Amino acid sequence: MKFGTLLIHNGHEADPATGALGTPVIQTSTFAQRDIQGGQEFDYARSGNPTRKALEETIARLEGGARGYAFGSGMGAVSSVLGIFSAGDHVIAAEDVYGGSWRILNTFYRRWGLEVTAVDSTDIRNIGKALRPGTKALFLESPSNPLLKITDLRACLGFAREKGLVSIVDNTFMTPYLQRPLDLGADIVVHSATKFLGGHSDVVLGLAVARDEELGRRVYAVQNSFGAIPGPWDVWLVMRGMKTLKARLDSQAAGAQRLARWLEGHAAVAAVYYPGLEGHPGKAIHEGQSSGAGAVLSFKTRNAGQALRFLKEVRYAAPAVSLGGVETIASYPVTMSHAAMPQAERERLGITDTLIRISVGLEDIEDLIADFGRALG
Ligand SMILES: *Cc1c(COP(=O)(O)O)cnc(C)c1O
Repeated sequence: MKFGTLLIHNGHEADPATGALGTPVIQTSTFAQRDIQGGQEFDYARSGNPTRKALEETIARLEGGARGYAFGSGMGAVSSVLGIFSAGDHVIAAEDVYGGSWRILNTFYRRWGLEVTAVDSTDIRNIGKALRPGTKALFLESPSNPLLKITDLRACLGFAREKGLVSIVDNTFMTPYLQRPLDLGADIVVHSATKFLGGHSDVVLGLAVARDEELGRRVYAVQNSFGAIPGPWDVWLVMRGMKTLKARLDSQAAGAQRLARWLEGHAAVAAVYYPGLEGHPGKAIHEGQSSGAGAVLSFKTRNAGQALRFLKEVRYAAPAVSLGGVETIASYPVTMSHAAMPQAERERLGITDTLIRISVGLEDIEDLIADFGRALG
């Protein structure tokens, strides 16, 4: 079965009890226990809910893992997965992971005793150098946010396996349609389903998929005890959104490719970051580990005034955080996603006040290009 078919025929295409094509929303906190000795699947909705189970099974199938878990947000998924480690464990993380992941690692989890080393994962040697006897995990994201840097996932995940580390990949930007980290050697995949999987900017939700049952049990223990679960209505929105993932991403990625090329030729644009562009340093590696460049790109204007003017003038891109929705979104990482990062650190990473990140939506690309042309002056 190919991916588009799997999105529709994922084992939850019809409710066995009623034939309903929409996933039934089981809005309950508890379940009547017919046999007081136990033995039934669902007893309390933090521990399990049939609507949530449908989504968890679906994402596990799409990513090719043994077990899927849903959380109240992408950060709920990231934080819960990191919760499988113990005080004193050392985690190597890509230095330009999502701003929220950077924050939870460097504030909350440091306080709870996790040791963290941030590395430039685009060079695998940096991961080798950061390795210590207590290293337990490797946390990666490719393409990275917001500069679309590419990490050689196959090589880095192979290295992690060889050293006995649990490897975690945030696959939010690519989705399992374009990239399947478990096939490349990852142990756990995490998602902000708020983005492309939900796809309509109307729900916040997170997912995690474990390669095998044993890791799945460790993630489930945190999900069940920490309790960062989503409600069934939000799960339903993601189930519905995911059915059109392929159709949306095909169109959005084609638009992103055209917009990136057009931006490259604009006088006010100093640089464009998109792994589908010929000049992108990670293009060959990205093509070897994914089946598309996705719908997110970034660019730098020549000065900060131009960037601020663009954000003020642009009509068809919402100046907002987030990405992956049907509407084009223009984010300003310096004051939005990376506001929590100290300025010196941001500048070292190239996250300057001229940088704008675009998530291309489903508008006609000719209209977007005309609008961007006007806003860039
Ligand atoms: C948005 C995002 C997150 C966090 O997800 P929320 O649903 O906002 O909690 C994590 N990783 C990446 C790459 C993201 O874009």
